Amino acid sequence: MDLNINDKIVLVSAASKGIGRAAAELFVKEGCKVAICSTNQENLIKTAAEIKKNYGAEPFWIVCDLNVEGDIENTVFEVRKHIGEIDILVNNCGGPAPGRFDDLNEQDWSNGYNQVLMSAVRFIRLVLPSMKANEFGRIINITSLSVKQPVDNLMLSNAFRSALTAMSKTLSNDIGKHDITINNVAPGYTLTSRLYELAVSRAKETGDSHELILSKMASDVPMKRLGRPDEIASLIVYLASKQAGFITGQTFVVDGGVVKSTY
Ligand code: NAD
Repeated sequence: MDLNINDKIVLVSAASKGIGRAAAELFVKEGCKVAICSTNQENLIKTAAEIKKNYGAEPFWIVCDLNVEGDIENTVFEVRKHIGEIDILVNNCGGPAPGRFDDLNEQDWSNGYNQVLMSAVRFIRLVLPSMKANEFGRIINITSLSVKQPVDNLMLSNAFRSALTAMSKTLSNDIGKHDITINNVAPGYTLTSRLYELAVSRAKETGDSHELILSKMASDVPMKRLGRPDEIASLIVYLASKQAGFITGQTFVVDGGVVKSTY
């Protein structure tokens, strides 16, 4: 299927690794002009070079700490300067610190708020005026299955991704008239460095090996395996397409069937 997004300008945040990187790769494959950002310059350079080698075009990259408002403003400014106005915004972020209520202090809550909720709010605020002027825009937030089924040890993720979901639904009512959609893609257990680190952290708590923890996670999934980043990326890119123009304000779980609810 031709997704009709050839030449669209895309920004994917937190995209030097994992799900963000997989989305950036697929947008490059679709012929979009892609920008990526993350905190780690070394990883960005490596990722941009690998994407160029594999798919023929190098994404524009820029260092950005999503906890810092000025970095977000600078990222949008530099993307505009080097590629143009952003048509498609993918709000990804590094996962917030794991922990239960008693494990988290004031600073942890403030970091989670800035990274998960406010980074998306700030990017959206910066790109909406040009999307409205162009009468086209696609915004996709990467959240988590935790918005449907909270995960015990991920208090900050549960709290702030739910806030992001409610904010997006509310915003969708106002921006639809400009052909701007906003949706959430909520991954389940997907094999990236984030999941690996969570398994290592759980291994320290339980005394089990991280390999055993990963294989137990996989056995809890009805599909009996962990997800792959490209499986999340396919939905992200579809939601950015012209064909997905009647879908807005929704959350789509991609989890191999882990969430037990029917809606
Ligand atoms: P990952 O660790 O593979 O990649 C995270 C990316 O975020 C990296 O590029 C990293 O450099 C970047 N990053 C981290 N902190 C940043 C910051 N402060 N500013 C800018 N960039 C920053 O993670 P992933 O597994 O691809 O996860 C992506 C998102 O999806 C996370 O929010 C994660 O919580 C969520 N998620 C992942 C899974 C999973 O199983 N992998 C499941 C549910 C939700």
